Amino acid sequence: MSFEFLGLSEELLRAVADSGYTEPTPIQRQAIPTVLQGRDVLGIAQTGTGKTASFTLPMIDILAQGRARARMPRSLILEPTRELAVQVAENFEKYGKYHKLSMALLIGGMAFGEQDRALDKGVDVLIATPGRLIDQCERSKVMLSGVEILVIDEADRMLDMGFIPDVERIVSLMPPRRQTLFFSATMPPVVKRLADQFLRDPKAIEVARPATANTSIAQSLVVVGERAKRETLRDLIRELDVTNAIIFCNRKRDVKVLQESLTRHGFKAGQLHGDMEQAERLQVLERFRAGDLPLLVASDVAARGLDVPGVSHVFNFDVPIHADDYVHRIGRTGRAGRSGVAVTLATPAEAEAVAAVEALTGQPIPRREVAQSVALEAPEAGRRGGDRRRSRGKGGADKSADKALEKAAEKPAREKTAEKPAGASESRGRRDGRPERESRPERERESRPERERDSRPAREARHSSAGDRGRGRRGDDRRDRDDADEPVVGLGAHVPAFLLVSARGKEAA
Ligand code: AMP
Repeated sequence: MSFEFLGLSEELLRAVADSGYTEPTPIQRQAIPTVLQGRDVLGIAQTGTGKTASFTLPMIDILAQGRARARMPRSLILEPTRELAVQVAENFEKYGKYHKLSMALLIGGMAFGEQDRALDKGVDVLIATPGRLIDQCERSKVMLSGVEILVIDEADRMLDMGFIPDVERIVSLMPPRRQTLFFSATMPPVVKRLADQFLRDPKAIEVARPATANTSIAQSLVVVGERAKRETLRDLIRELDVTNAIIFCNRKRDVKVLQESLTRHGFKAGQLHGDMEQAERLQVLERFRAGDLPLLVASDVAARGLDVPGVSHVFNFDVPIHADDYVHRIGRTGRAGRSGVAVTLATPAEAEAVAAVEALTGQPIPRREVAQSVALEAPEAGRRGGDRRRSRGKGGADKSADKALEKAAEKPAREKTAEKPAGASESRGRRDGRPERESRPERERESRPERERDSRPAREARHSSAGDRGRGRRGDDRRDRDDADEPVVGLGAHVPAFLLVSARGKEAA
């Protein structure tokens, strides 16, 4: 089936043809005619499925009729991260090149002045992250009463990042008569509740998860001791005919350390994480896209939606804490019909996280043997704490399991020292001196240490509790996460004298 049968205008068909796409993807086939009919859509789909074009294309045709009024955008697309927002804007530019639609991007890290000017002129399409949009609504720079089409993209990611109260607030500022397109990769209960609340008689469209359906990604798992990880990664990069690769770390401080280590070993690598200035992030991405930086060490902020069609390899330097992130990470390769390779490095102690990924995708990750291979610890052993029983990995690694555990316990000295909580150094901010609102959840999420492995159901339960609205990222979640980052010093029964200052003494001081 070609794009011609979907009901799109001549101009759009030309723009699609210019992009080199000949056939609509399954979600495009189903969503485009539905959106053109004016119906709400509940799309269960991930990035990599062609989901962005499934809403941008029909929106361009719908918005071609009518005119924008000052400060009253005609459509709103909410994205959880700046990168995704930028990518959606690029889609509008690419497909809307034969139309005269005006667009504004409201994301943190950009000057207010530029955004204010665009809004003052009136825009057909407003693409925003929730925090910055609320800022602008509070400053009366934007009014949502004229929104005809609302897109909520990556709703489950919004949930993960604590944006749900903001999204609810934003939607409450909109007219009830509007067309709503709601996309999420998964449908946990809180997201389902939101969909029920926001959508009217939606057409439900579900497309297969790229990770389970996408056989164009060759996945493998390498189990090595913590200390062997960097060397193993370097060996793999050399051996695997890597054109360009994204290397994911769980923590942003590891992103920096790994990027520096790779550079020291003669690799050309850049870094991308939530603590960087927006301009810097975009610049690095641009260099990566252009091939100037073949390796990009990144945190999960970059995992969702990062659209670089020709990424040959994805490496997971750590097994992601949340299994869903695995799907998003490896989905950066094998895009747009190409094949890709995803290699995950795990230590024996990461067995539980590996098991969670395999349970989610419904398939074991084939083991890849390397010189330093060790066995994977049985997940049950990790959960039982004191029980140190373990099993050999499926690949039949021949090193002893005892040695594996010893190696896993040998953390580099650098990591044992108390570190400043990730993100503590940052002062990125707004002109009024308050911190950037939507950047905080990115930092919080990234800075969650390995030990804070709260399960997805537990997180959902927190969000969906009666106090859901009031809590979010400025409430209890934030306290939980910040506390988890603080290094804890135990004094045992002995309290040093300098701590025994009387209350009166303290007041005097
Ligand atoms: P998305 O799921 O929107 O992130 O899109 C994933 C990738 O597929 C992007 O690189 C798109 O440019 C590309 N893409 C979108 N639609 C098509 C199509 N019909 N044919 C081939 N590639 C497409």
